[in-house]
Amino acid sequence: MRPEPLRPGATIGIVGGGQLARMLAIAAARLGFRTHIFAPDADAPAFQVAAGHRRAAYDDASALDAFAAEVDVITYEFENLPAESLQRLAARVPVHPPVVALETAQDRLMEKRFLAGLGIATAPFAPVDDAAMLAAALAGMGGSGILKTRRFGYDGKGQVHLGPGDDPHSALEALGHAPAILEGVVPFTREISVVAARGQDGEIAAFPPVENRHENGILRETIAPAAMSPEIAEEARRITTRILDALDYVGAIGVEMFLLEDEVPRILVNEIAPRVHNSGHWTLDAAMCDQFEQHIRAVAGLPLGDASPICPAVMCNLIGAEIDDLAALLAQPGTRVHHYGKGESRPGRKMGHVTRLTPASRT
Ligand code: AMP
Repeated sequence: MRPEPLRPGATIGIVGGGQLARMLAIAAARLGFRTHIFAPDADAPAFQVAAGHRRAAYDDASALDAFAAEVDVITYEFENLPAESLQRLAARVPVHPPVVALETAQDRLMEKRFLAGLGIATAPFAPVDDAAMLAAALAGMGGSGILKTRRFGYDGKGQVHLGPGDDPHSALEALGHAPAILEGVVPFTREISVVAARGQDGEIAAFPPVENRHENGILRETIAPAAMSPEIAEEARRITTRILDALDYVGAIGVEMFLLEDEVPRILVNEIAPRVHNSGHWTLDAAMCDQFEQHIRAVAGLPLGDASPICPAVMCNLIGAEIDDLAALLAQPGTRVHHYGKGESRPGRKMGHVTRLTPASRT
């Protein structure tokens, strides 16, 4: 049963103030909601478009309590938040997605075990806390693998590839001897993802799987929809549904997957992101209802929108100085430009994105 939905004029609290929070705030405003952002930064991109904000550290207990008192419901935009802070908030105000989803996604070992428990295939993995465990794990994986910190890894950070002849000790050293896992190297042909949302009544709306291309560990381009057979697309959605239901999830999720295109194509799940996802940005311009609005609808207890694509699209992140010639970007036909309002274009920083649309009239 769907609970009483949030009324327009109510305030949605968002923990985190980056571009995802910014786009969530814009979607919320479109539906008549106010947003209130919690972030430590002086100039968080979301502050510019929200009704209010509170600037404090993510573990500042009294600031968290004050924030909870200022909002009707709370959501979050990134996963490297202290789980205790969200638990503190959840004791006062409803928090979506559930804190258990954040905890699961924060720890690569817990995440892999959760997926294995659902019968969802992943890369082979083994926990690594010290040199002896690493030696045993490497032996079990034929001498090579990717050592990843269990926590606080993103965009390829906190990872070391290990092959025959590499020194396992320096790999542990490079990760600061943090608790880690060793993953077998997956011979995937493409990386895909599914962004989907689940409402408070358990309704699920999934966008079609998309293909993601990375450069230097950062998402470069998303091709939507991904070219694939209907059967494998359906399998990708089924996996996502299983994850959403198991977590009793509310909100948007991104599930990153490896596609192996052998004789019988297979999907392995790489990781889950309990939030709106970069590979879903194309939906702002090329889907009936975009991922940010889906998330706000779910958090507000409203029915989900239509996740059908309107036309094929390619989303390209604008990284560093690529945003600087805005006029040239705007002059490109068939292109929508999204600027995140970040002051400084540092190398490797996601500054905005463009979506190139191919409506039927242009094919
Ligand atoms: P992650 O931070 O785990 O998403 O990893 C960043 C990127 O490294 C992924 O997008 C893949 O391109 C690559 N990668 C991660 N894990 C594996 C794996 N087990 N096998 C092969 N490539 C991987």
